Amino acid sequence: MAVPIVSERRSLGPHTTVLFGSEQGKYPDGNTVLVRGRDSSLVIDPSLSARSEALDVDRVLLTHTHEDHAAGVSGVRWQELSVHEADLAALRSVDDLMRLYGLAPESWPAMTQMVQERFFFEGWPQATGLCDDDVIDLGGVTVRLIHAPGHTGGHSVYLIEPDGVLVTGDIDLTGFGPYYGDAASSLDAFESTLAMVREIAAAHYVTFHHKGVVEGHEAFAAAVDSYTASIGRRTNDLLALLADGPSTFDELHAHGIVYRAGTRPANFGDSVEAHTIERHLARLLADGAVASDGQQYWLA
Ligand SMILES: [Zn+2]
Repeated sequence: MAVPIVSERRSLGPHTTVLFGSEQGKYPDGNTVLVRGRDSSLVIDPSLSARSEALDVDRVLLTHTHEDHAAGVSGVRWQELSVHEADLAALRSVDDLMRLYGLAPESWPAMTQMVQERFFFEGWPQATGLCDDDVIDLGGVTVRLIHAPGHTGGHSVYLIEPDGVLVTGDIDLTGFGPYYGDAASSLDAFESTLAMVREIAAAHYVTFHHKGVVEGHEAFAAAVDSYTASIGRRTNDLLALLADGPSTFDELHAHGIVYRAGTRPANFGDSVEAHTIERHLARLLADGAVASDGQQYWLA
Protein backbone atom coordinates (compact mmCIF):
# COMPACT_ATOMS: atom_id res chain seq x y z
CA MET A 1 0.00 0.00 0.00
CA ALA A 2 1.24 3.50 -0.83
CA VAL A 3 2.27 5.63 2.14
CA PRO A 4 -0.63 8.04 2.84
CA ILE A 5 0.29 11.68 2.47
CA VAL A 6 -1.52 14.92 3.34
CA SER A 7 -3.60 15.87 0.30
CA GLU A 8 -4.28 19.51 1.17
CA ARG A 9 -3.68 22.04 3.96
CA ARG A 10 -6.19 24.71 4.81
CA SER A 11 -5.79 27.56 7.27
CA LEU A 12 -8.92 28.17 9.38
CA GLY A 13 -7.68 31.20 11.26
CA PRO A 14 -4.43 32.70 12.49
CA HIS A 15 -3.50 29.62 14.54
CA THR A 16 -5.33 26.63 13.06
CA THR A 17 -4.44 24.49 10.04
CA VAL A 18 -6.23 21.37 8.81
CA LEU A 19 -4.06 18.67 7.24
CA PHE A 20 -6.46 16.71 5.07
CA GLY A 21 -5.89 13.02 4.56
CA SER A 22 -6.71 11.31 1.30
CA GLU A 23 -10.36 11.65 0.13
CA GLN A 24 -11.17 14.21 2.86
CA GLY A 25 -9.91 11.78 5.48
CA LYS A 26 -11.67 8.61 4.37
CA TYR A 27 -10.99 5.72 6.77
CA PRO A 28 -8.32 4.47 7.44
CA ASP A 29 -6.94 8.00 6.97
CA GLY A 30 -8.30 11.13 8.66
CA ASN A 31 -8.03 14.92 8.96
CA THR A 32 -5.48 16.23 11.44
CA VAL A 33 -5.67 19.67 13.07
CA LEU A 34 -2.53 21.65 13.91
CA VAL A 35 -2.75 24.59 16.36
CA ARG A 36 0.18 26.96 16.83
CA GLY A 37 0.20 29.55 19.63
CA ARG A 38 2.77 32.13 20.69
CA ASP A 39 4.26 29.80 23.31
CA SER A 40 3.50 26.28 22.22
CA SER A 41 1.74 24.09 19.69
CA LEU A 42 -0.30 20.90 19.46
CA VAL A 43 -1.92 18.52 17.03
CA ILE A 44 -5.33 16.91 17.40
CA ASP A 45 -5.82 13.34 16.09
CA PRO A 46 -2.64 12.78 14.04
CA SER A 47 -3.74 10.50 11.23
CA LEU A 48 -1.91 8.02 9.02
CA SER A 49 -1.11 10.77 6.51
CA ALA A 50 0.20 13.10 9.25
CA ARG A 51 3.07 10.62 9.71
CA SER A 52 4.64 12.04 6.54
CA GLU A 53 4.72 15.64 7.88
CA ALA A 54 7.63 15.44 10.38
CA LEU A 55 5.53 17.40 12.88
CA ASP A 56 7.26 18.65 16.03
CA VAL A 57 4.81 19.91 18.68
CA ASP A 58 4.49 20.21 22.45
CA ARG A 59 1.33 18.17 22.77
CA VAL A 60 -0.84 15.64 20.99
CA LEU A 61 -4.54 15.56 21.88
CA LEU A 62 -6.91 12.83 20.76
CA THR A 63 -10.67 13.21 20.46
CA HIS A 64 -10.85 9.56 21.59
CA THR A 65 -8.86 6.35 21.56
CA HIS A 66 -9.42 4.58 18.26
CA GLU A 67 -6.72 3.16 16.03
CA ASP A 68 -7.14 5.63 13.16
CA HIS A 69 -7.01 8.72 15.43
CA ALA A 70 -3.75 7.57 17.02
CA ALA A 71 -2.15 6.35 13.78
CA GLY A 72 0.23 9.32 13.61
CA VAL A 73 1.18 9.48 17.28
CA SER A 74 4.46 7.62 16.79
CA GLY A 75 5.25 9.71 13.69
CA VAL A 76 5.06 13.07 15.52
CA ARG A 77 7.61 14.50 17.99
CA TRP A 78 5.74 15.48 21.19
CA GLN A 79 6.22 16.02 24.91
CA GLU A 80 2.77 15.10 26.16
CA LEU A 81 -0.01 12.90 24.78
CA SER A 82 -3.52 13.25 26.19
CA VAL A 83 -7.08 12.06 25.81
CA HIS A 84 -10.18 12.31 28.01
CA GLU A 85 -9.61 10.24 31.13
CA ALA A 86 -12.41 7.80 30.22
CA ASP A 87 -10.37 6.68 27.15
CA LEU A 88 -6.99 6.84 28.86
CA ALA A 89 -6.55 3.14 29.71
CA ALA A 90 -7.10 2.20 26.05
CA LEU A 91 -4.46 4.71 24.96
CA ARG A 92 -1.97 3.32 27.47
CA SER A 93 -2.32 -0.34 26.53
CA VAL A 94 -3.43 -2.29 23.50
CA ASP A 95 -5.19 -4.87 25.69
CA ASP A 96 -7.35 -2.10 27.12
CA LEU A 97 -8.05 -0.92 23.56
CA MET A 98 -9.40 -4.42 22.86
CA ARG A 99 -11.59 -4.09 25.98
CA LEU A 100 -12.85 -0.71 24.77
CA TYR A 101 -13.88 -2.32 21.47
CA GLY A 102 -15.45 -5.20 23.41
CA LEU A 103 -14.25 -7.83 20.95
CA ALA A 104 -14.69 -11.52 21.61
CA PRO A 105 -11.41 -13.01 22.88
CA GLU A 106 -10.86 -15.03 19.70
CA SER A 107 -10.70 -11.76 17.71
CA TRP A 108 -8.03 -10.15 19.90
CA PRO A 109 -4.90 -11.54 18.17
CA ALA A 110 -5.95 -10.52 14.64
CA MET A 111 -7.22 -7.10 15.77
CA THR A 112 -4.11 -6.48 17.88
CA GLN A 113 -1.93 -7.30 14.89
CA MET A 114 -4.03 -5.01 12.69
CA VAL A 115 -3.82 -1.96 14.98
CA GLN A 116 -0.09 -2.48 15.52
CA GLU A 117 0.94 -3.10 11.92
CA ARG A 118 -1.50 -0.95 10.00
CA PHE A 119 -2.05 1.86 12.54
CA PHE A 120 1.25 1.82 14.46
CA PHE A 121 -0.62 1.52 17.77
CA GLU A 122 1.95 0.94 20.50
CA GLY A 123 0.06 1.81 23.67
CA TRP A 124 1.63 4.80 25.44
CA PRO A 125 1.85 4.27 29.24
CA GLN A 126 2.98 7.88 29.74
CA ALA A 127 -0.24 9.33 28.24
CA THR A 128 -2.20 11.69 30.48
CA GLY A 129 -5.93 12.24 31.06
CA LEU A 130 -8.05 15.33 30.48
CA CYS A 131 -11.45 16.29 31.92
CA ASP A 132 -14.49 18.13 30.64
CA ASP A 133 -13.83 21.85 30.25
CA ASP A 134 -10.04 21.57 30.53
CA VAL A 135 -8.44 24.47 28.67
CA ILE A 136 -4.95 24.40 27.16
CA ASP A 137 -3.50 27.87 26.61
CA LEU A 138 -0.91 27.95 23.81
CA GLY A 139 -0.40 31.72 23.99
CA GLY A 140 -2.95 33.80 22.12
CA VAL A 141 -5.02 30.74 21.36
CA THR A 142 -6.81 28.23 23.62
CA VAL A 143 -8.05 24.69 23.07
CA ARG A 144 -10.99 23.63 25.26
CA LEU A 145 -12.06 20.00 25.72
CA ILE A 146 -15.83 19.46 25.69
CA HIS A 147 -16.76 15.91 26.73
CA ALA A 148 -19.01 14.46 24.01
CA PRO A 149 -19.41 10.74 24.85
CA GLY A 150 -21.28 8.05 22.98
CA HIS A 151 -18.89 6.98 20.24
CA THR A 152 -16.57 6.01 23.10
CA GLY A 153 -16.92 6.89 26.78
CA GLY A 154 -14.21 9.52 26.54
CA HIS A 155 -15.00 10.93 23.10
CA SER A 156 -14.59 14.72 23.19
CA VAL A 157 -14.67 17.67 20.85
CA TYR A 158 -12.20 20.59 21.00
CA LEU A 159 -13.08 24.27 20.64
CA ILE A 160 -10.23 26.45 19.39
CA GLU A 161 -10.58 30.15 20.23
CA PRO A 162 -10.35 32.86 18.97
CA ASP A 163 -10.20 31.00 15.63
CA GLY A 164 -13.76 29.72 16.06
CA VAL A 165 -12.95 26.10 15.13
CA LEU A 166 -14.72 23.06 16.57
CA VAL A 167 -12.92 19.75 16.05
CA THR A 168 -15.68 17.14 16.12
CA GLY A 169 -13.68 13.89 15.89
CA ASP A 170 -15.93 10.95 15.04
CA ILE A 171 -19.10 12.95 15.20
CA ASP A 172 -18.14 12.75 11.55
CA LEU A 173 -21.51 13.68 9.97
CA THR A 174 -21.17 10.95 7.33
CA GLY A 175 -23.97 9.09 5.60
CA PHE A 176 -22.90 6.00 7.57
CA GLY A 177 -24.34 7.68 10.66
CA PRO A 178 -23.24 7.64 14.31
CA TYR A 179 -21.09 4.69 15.35
CA TYR A 180 -21.92 3.23 18.78
CA GLY A 181 -20.79 -0.33 18.15
CA ASP A 182 -18.06 -0.74 20.78
CA ALA A 183 -18.42 -2.05 24.33
CA ALA A 184 -17.51 1.47 25.46
CA SER A 185 -20.12 3.13 23.22
CA SER A 186 -23.55 4.34 24.32
CA LEU A 187 -26.53 5.11 22.11
CA ASP A 188 -28.20 7.24 24.79
CA ALA A 189 -25.03 9.22 25.42
CA PHE A 190 -24.47 9.72 21.67
CA GLU A 191 -27.97 11.17 21.29
CA SER A 192 -27.44 13.56 24.20
CA THR A 193 -24.08 14.54 22.72
CA LEU A 194 -25.60 15.28 19.30
CA ALA A 195 -28.18 17.57 20.89
CA MET A 196 -25.41 19.30 22.86
CA VAL A 197 -22.86 19.82 20.07
CA ARG A 198 -25.60 21.00 17.69
CA GLU A 199 -25.81 24.16 19.81
CA ILE A 200 -22.09 24.97 19.80
CA ALA A 201 -21.50 28.10 17.74
CA ALA A 202 -18.32 28.15 15.66
CA ALA A 203 -17.17 29.43 12.29
CA HIS A 204 -15.66 26.11 11.11
CA TYR A 205 -16.38 22.50 12.09
CA VAL A 206 -13.71 19.92 11.30
CA THR A 207 -14.66 16.24 11.11
CA PHE A 208 -12.05 13.49 11.10
CA HIS A 209 -13.57 11.60 8.15
CA HIS A 210 -15.17 12.35 4.78
CA LYS A 211 -16.93 15.66 5.42
CA GLY A 212 -13.75 17.54 6.17
CA VAL A 213 -14.78 21.09 7.05
CA VAL A 214 -18.36 22.34 7.46
CA GLU A 215 -18.60 26.12 7.27
CA GLY A 216 -20.95 28.01 9.59
CA HIS A 217 -23.38 26.99 12.30
CA GLU A 218 -26.44 26.72 10.10
CA ALA A 219 -24.85 24.14 7.81
CA PHE A 220 -23.44 22.28 10.81
CA ALA A 221 -26.83 22.05 12.57
CA ALA A 222 -28.42 20.71 9.37
CA ALA A 223 -25.64 18.14 9.00
CA VAL A 224 -26.10 17.04 12.63
CA ASP A 225 -29.82 16.59 12.01
CA SER A 226 -29.39 14.33 9.00
CA TYR A 227 -26.65 12.41 10.81
CA THR A 228 -28.93 11.92 13.82
CA ALA A 229 -31.65 10.57 11.51
CA SER A 230 -29.49 7.48 10.84
CA ILE A 231 -30.29 6.29 14.37
CA GLY A 232 -34.01 6.23 13.59
CA ARG A 233 -33.28 4.54 10.28
CA ARG A 234 -31.56 1.66 12.11
CA THR A 235 -34.54 1.34 14.48
CA ASN A 236 -36.84 1.15 11.47
CA ASP A 237 -34.62 -1.47 9.81
CA LEU A 238 -34.84 -3.60 12.95
CA LEU A 239 -38.63 -3.20 13.12
CA ALA A 240 -38.87 -4.16 9.44
CA LEU A 241 -36.91 -7.37 10.13
CA LEU A 242 -39.27 -8.21 13.00
CA ALA A 243 -42.31 -7.44 10.85
CA ASP A 244 -41.52 -10.64 8.95
CA GLY A 245 -42.17 -12.63 12.12
CA PRO A 246 -40.44 -13.53 15.39
CA SER A 247 -36.64 -13.69 15.18
CA THR A 248 -33.82 -14.83 17.41
CA PHE A 249 -30.95 -12.49 18.17
CA ASP A 250 -28.72 -14.61 15.94
CA GLU A 251 -31.11 -14.20 13.02
CA LEU A 252 -31.24 -10.42 13.49
CA HIS A 253 -27.45 -10.38 13.84
CA ALA A 254 -26.95 -12.40 10.64
CA HIS A 255 -28.87 -9.73 8.72
CA GLY A 256 -27.48 -6.71 10.58
CA ILE A 257 -28.57 -3.07 10.70
CA VAL A 258 -25.20 -1.26 10.49
CA TYR A 259 -23.37 -2.52 7.42
CA ARG A 260 -24.86 -3.07 3.99
CA ALA A 261 -24.87 -6.68 2.81
CA GLY A 262 -21.38 -7.82 1.90
CA THR A 263 -19.58 -4.88 3.55
CA ARG A 264 -19.25 -6.14 7.14
CA PRO A 265 -15.58 -5.74 8.12
CA ALA A 266 -13.51 -8.71 9.22
CA ASN A 267 -12.28 -8.84 12.83
CA PHE A 268 -14.73 -6.32 14.30
CA GLY A 269 -17.87 -6.17 12.11
CA ASP A 270 -19.73 -8.96 13.93
CA SER A 271 -19.03 -7.31 17.27
CA VAL A 272 -20.21 -3.90 16.02
CA GLU A 273 -23.47 -5.37 14.71
CA ALA A 274 -24.06 -7.22 17.99
CA HIS A 275 -23.47 -4.16 20.21
CA THR A 276 -25.61 -1.97 17.97
CA ILE A 277 -28.56 -4.38 17.72
CA GLU A 278 -28.44 -4.98 21.49
CA ARG A 279 -28.75 -1.24 22.09
CA HIS A 280 -31.67 -0.77 19.71
CA LEU A 281 -33.44 -3.89 21.02
CA ALA A 282 -33.04 -2.76 24.63
CA ARG A 283 -34.67 0.53 23.73
CA LEU A 284 -37.53 -1.11 21.80
CA LEU A 285 -38.16 -3.57 24.67
CA ALA A 286 -38.21 -0.71 27.18
CA ASP A 287 -40.61 1.24 24.96
CA GLY A 288 -42.91 -1.78 24.69
CA ALA A 289 -42.63 -1.81 20.88
CA VAL A 290 -40.95 -5.23 20.94
CA ALA A 291 -41.49 -8.23 23.23
CA SER A 292 -39.26 -11.23 23.93
CA ASP A 293 -39.34 -14.57 25.75
CA GLY A 294 -35.58 -14.55 26.04
CA GLN A 295 -35.22 -16.63 22.85
CA GLN A 296 -37.18 -14.77 20.22
CA TYR A 297 -38.15 -11.16 19.60
CA TRP A 298 -41.37 -9.99 17.99
CA LEU A 299 -43.40 -6.84 17.44
CA ALA A 300 -45.59 -6.20 20.49
ZN1 LIG B 1 -13.61 6.47 16.40
